[in-house]
Amino acid sequence: MTPQELCAAFKHRQRSALAKIITHVESDAPASRLYADEVLALLEKPAKPSIRIAISGPPGVGKSTFINTLGQKLLEYNFKIAILPIDPASELSFGSILADKTRMASLLGRPDVYIRPSSSRGILGGINAAMSDVIFVVESFGFDLVIIETVGVGQSEALAYTLVDHFVVLLQPASGDFLQAIKKGILERADFILVNKADTELQDQAKQSLEALSQGLPQHIYLSAISALTGMGIDNFLKNLLTKHAHKIDTHSLLKERKRRFEGFFNFALQERLWPKVLEKISPIMPLSEILEQVDQAAQGEKALGPMLDYLCDNIIRKLGYKNYK
Ligand code: GDP
Repeated sequence: MTPQELCAAFKHRQRSALAKIITHVESDAPASRLYADEVLALLEKPAKPSIRIAISGPPGVGKSTFINTLGQKLLEYNFKIAILPIDPASELSFGSILADKTRMASLLGRPDVYIRPSSSRGILGGINAAMSDVIFVVESFGFDLVIIETVGVGQSEALAYTLVDHFVVLLQPASGDFLQAIKKGILERADFILVNKADTELQDQAKQSLEALSQGLPQHIYLSAISALTGMGIDNFLKNLLTKHAHKIDTHSLLKERKRRFEGFFNFALQERLWPKVLEKISPIMPLSEILEQVDQAAQGEKALGPMLDYLCDNIIRKLGYKNYK
């Protein structure tokens, strides 16, 4: 199928064309990449910016249950929702996408919902350089609300933040999550912190945790106890999110903020795409085995890393053709 034919099917809202395009966009194979680039050039941007949300939190905190409940409410508002769970299965053994899909049972098969687990290739337990293009594709297809679900480990958290307008962190009371989240700097990025499972015997602890948290956090962060299972607190959360989003649009800060956050993603994506190519070509400058040995020595504190980095960078840049580079 030519890129034009595939795009024609995509524009007729065929889900199979959507899935096929995402597969090419996520592929590492050079031929697939070229094909994806041609297709991406043919896609139209959406008429208005969608709402982009990341749901983050440790395994078992209730992310899938939350998305299942939230999704049903979003459908009542007539949103068309794309859900992109990041599959950590290849790196870690937490759950599986099949289980995720089952937990989102109320959303499966709904015409206005699309659930597409992302293939992580196991690099950092999650987001890869293609993620922003996957968002571009689903938005172009007509989804006006995108939810990324990340598993609360690794660099995925920081990257998810760079791709969305609203970063939502789910925590569980009395679980050590709080300390972990604070340590990893996750709470600093949060736009919303929701303490889940407040329907259980943890209710009192949830309240205490909230009070403790509210002391140290900036005012703009929305903090609430919820229950993904019963739906408690989710209407309020959603109203608040939609109001915040409308405010960002009214004050023209939505796109400015996207730009600011996206810089972090670009740095990551460039590195992820470029570095394997550089490594392929690096051996005439310094064999990879020697690089790794020097890195090892630096890690042991036996040798400084800087001189080797300078040597590599200077010579790579010269190899690119900048002969007078100093
Ligand atoms: P995830 O790994 O973060 O996606 O977590 P899940 O959504 O799979 O939830 C893990 C477990 O917690 C499941 O057994 C859920 O039924 C349960 N759970 C999720 N949210 C709630 C809640 O609000 N209250 C209670 N009591 N259990 C919940």
